[in-house]
Amino acid sequence: MAIPENKLAFGDGWQYSPAPESIDHIKVRKKYDLFIGGDFVAPVKGRYFETINPATEERLSRVGLGTELDVDKAVAAARKAYSSWSRMKAAERGKYVYRIARILQERAREFAAIESLDGGKPIRESRDVDIPLAAAHFFYYAGWADKLDYAFPGRTARPLGVAGQIIPWNFPLLMAAWKIAPALACGNTVVLKPAETTPLTAMKLAEVVADAGLPPGVVNIVTGAGDTGAAIVNHPGVDKIAFTGSTAVGRIIQKALAGTNKRYTLELGGKAANIIFADAAIDQAVEGIVNGIFFNQGHVCCAGSRLLVQESVADQVIQKLKDRMDTLIVGDPLDKNTDIGAINSAAQLETIESYLAIGEEEGAELYQSACPVPDRGYWCRPTLFTGVSQSNRVVQEEIFGPVLAIQTFRTFSEALSKANNTRYGLSGGVWTDKGAKIFKITQNVRAGVVWANTFNKFDPTSPFGGYKESGVGREGGLHGLDAYLKLEA
Ligand code: ADP
Repeated sequence: MAIPENKLAFGDGWQYSPAPESIDHIKVRKKYDLFIGGDFVAPVKGRYFETINPATEERLSRVGLGTELDVDKAVAAARKAYSSWSRMKAAERGKYVYRIARILQERAREFAAIESLDGGKPIRESRDVDIPLAAAHFFYYAGWADKLDYAFPGRTARPLGVAGQIIPWNFPLLMAAWKIAPALACGNTVVLKPAETTPLTAMKLAEVVADAGLPPGVVNIVTGAGDTGAAIVNHPGVDKIAFTGSTAVGRIIQKALAGTNKRYTLELGGKAANIIFADAAIDQAVEGIVNGIFFNQGHVCCAGSRLLVQESVADQVIQKLKDRMDTLIVGDPLDKNTDIGAINSAAQLETIESYLAIGEEEGAELYQSACPVPDRGYWCRPTLFTGVSQSNRVVQEEIFGPVLAIQTFRTFSEALSKANNTRYGLSGGVWTDKGAKIFKITQNVRAGVVWANTFNKFDPTSPFGGYKESGVGREGGLHGLDAYLKLEA
């Protein structure tokens, strides 16, 4: 469904559009420059790329294509700002971070609308999850700024320097918040690169940073694609790399950093098992399965993309799940009734569709809801595979779409060994009436987070990160501070 012209404002300066039904106003500039040293500056080579609305395939804006030259300028600006920012009284630094949090809260509706326009996620999710959580991360880490001595008693906490931060397209503003908030609270300065398909809320965040009066160069945002990210990773003036994205790119980054003194955290892919025992509250578990795999179109590294269901209730669970899938509405991300929005890009849709074909070639049985989808844009109906085996690619590989692979198990130990039979270790879920089972599962599933009788719950106080090929290091909570500090005895 095309977004009416009056919902988008194009022009050289700000233009305000009439308020559509559920949105106060949306402000999108025709063109975004890079944010370096407190100013919006044109990329050195003067090149820009388009960002489109994946629900309509229409262009939203053009953003600067940063090169090594721009990254160099941004790192220099961050280095210059570092000397005073790192020495600023910690409580003062905290005030700036609080200010970002408050402005984000005030502008939450606008941020939510732009996040949904640029990335395709349902407005209900960007409004109720992404933007409030992003603000909550800034609030949480603002509070730590002047309490680092209490966080690490007996040790002296010092910032690392300039942090290079590279984020993905599935939770654009939230990932920016996960990265920027702890870095600033600890006294670092940053150069952040948003993903190429979802740069807009990062550029809006640049405005917020400017409005909050942060000293120039403390936060720099350079848009671009993989080459721009690589320029940040390889820049000798960067002291730490924080990356969230695919395991493939994580490997490239880890290789590039080997032998350097740069610290790094990598948050990579996942293939989480969501385990349903026969004693679970089945209706609630079905809701948890739906949330686990269809939230944000399944573009979630911790998605519950493998369902392990106890054999005695498998038929019942699968039937209820299919019935529930048939009620899900796929379509316009800006409609508050939408359950599943647009796939983020044509390339990602192609990847997902290739996995649908792979699953069928492997002999799995595919079920898709029959809901209508718009003619234009990138869409994938909620999908599940039954009749899969452990070695199937749709069981082993991250699809990053609304596609669930279902296996059954008989015994507790079978559930556990299937859950752990994966190269990933980011998250997991367990549904049962028995506390003892919950403890046993959470202790034995090798994953950074395991949810019990819920799924996809996030909080700034809670550390997040993976084992195995899901990455190294933790973000969030106290652990998230550690990632931006040198701790000296
Ligand atoms: P996906 O495959 O889901 O698009 P990526 O891991 O490719 O995820 O992208 C995550 C982020 O990493 C994006 O901001 C992207 O531009 C960036 N990126 C891609 N390739 C590289 C690279 N070689 N070095 C650094 N960053 C990269």
